[in-house]
Amino acid sequence: MTVTPISAGKGRVLIVGATGFIGQFIAEASLAAGRTTYVLVRPGPGGPSKAKNVKALQDKGAIILHGLIKDKQFVEKILKEREIDIVISAVGGENILDQLNLIDAIKTVGTVKRFLPSEFGHDVDRADPVEPGLNMYRTKRRVRRLVEESGIPYTYICCNSIASWPYYDNTHPSEVVPPLDYFQIYGDGSVKAYFVAGTDIGKFTIKTLDDIRTLNKSVHFRPTCNLYNMNELASLWEKKIGKTLPRVTVTENDLLAAAAANCIPQSIVASFTHDIFIKGCQINFTIDGPQDVEVSTLYPDEAFRTLDDCFDDYLVKIDGKPMKTGDVASPSPVAEPMKTGEVAA
Ligand code: NDP
Repeated sequence: MTVTPISAGKGRVLIVGATGFIGQFIAEASLAAGRTTYVLVRPGPGGPSKAKNVKALQDKGAIILHGLIKDKQFVEKILKEREIDIVISAVGGENILDQLNLIDAIKTVGTVKRFLPSEFGHDVDRADPVEPGLNMYRTKRRVRRLVEESGIPYTYICCNSIASWPYYDNTHPSEVVPPLDYFQIYGDGSVKAYFVAGTDIGKFTIKTLDDIRTLNKSVHFRPTCNLYNMNELASLWEKKIGKTLPRVTVTENDLLAAAAANCIPQSIVASFTHDIFIKGCQINFTIDGPQDVEVSTLYPDEAFRTLDDCFDDYLVKIDGKPMKTGDVASPSPVAEPMKTGEVAA
């Protein structure tokens, strides 16, 4: 498939999954960059928060379309009629295979200049988590292979962990305040991972869209300012709340048992947590393959939000105002249970 390149910053974007956790960051960044942004909203129940998210995007200039990516004819129609240049999918983990029809439609239309499938986590060709996380990666790998076989120009966003306390049973950990009672430290707490603010996942994803250097590449997010292990993460939060908390070890076997319980989606998160904080899946390879680029190297003048700053946001959530070091936070929020069907990186 041959397509003409897009002029920088001009491509018309269609986002699928913009009402979701990651999709919202992507859609907001696309709108903030001044791009014509279409948002495909799945009809049906979604509750007040979905309606609120749609309205918020619409108020910022998003053009809302209603439909399903499973409906190939419908997708072909909007790709043609709206002259879509770029398609970004942020469908959730349980809907990864819904993208097969979307890819088919993109291939048939033949005018899309870049497709970003729903990735936004680890490099699924390299990472090798235990089940049930592995099964989700198999579906993401299947999507990758179909994109490549179809000759669709693509970019895979491997943004690593979202900036937050990495609760091992929560798919959207950044929505939850870090612990106020005790820390659960995975293994000996020494294995490092990269933490990226949701707003930066959005901002840098949008920057890659018409960058020739990211064409048919995996873009890895490795901000050196945000490389932390569990012990360092706990110390950072202790400094913020002005007190030390007990540290409880969650062993490798504990994480494997939580994964083996096969309680979806919590067990999927447990398997990724094991892969990150025991096996070191984010740091155990170098980015030197012909298909790999690193985002800070591509955009050296663009700063990442630091994890330090992101943790300040949680202090505001606790007390409604930033706290000075030495102040003691009032205990309250703990990890919330996930909704059935939610799946993380
Ligand atoms: P969510 O479940 O929060 O949102 C999914 C979105 O996709 C919703 O807007 C949903 O619509 C929409 N959607 C799902 N299926 C369809 C369909 N068939 N047609 C149209 N729209 C559809 O997903 P997440 O944000 O949690 O996950 C997105 C990606 O990000 C996944 O690949 C996941 O693995 C990854 N991720 C990475 C994290 C990290 O820390 N790096 C953390 C969390 C996720 P509706 O509102 O109707 O349900």
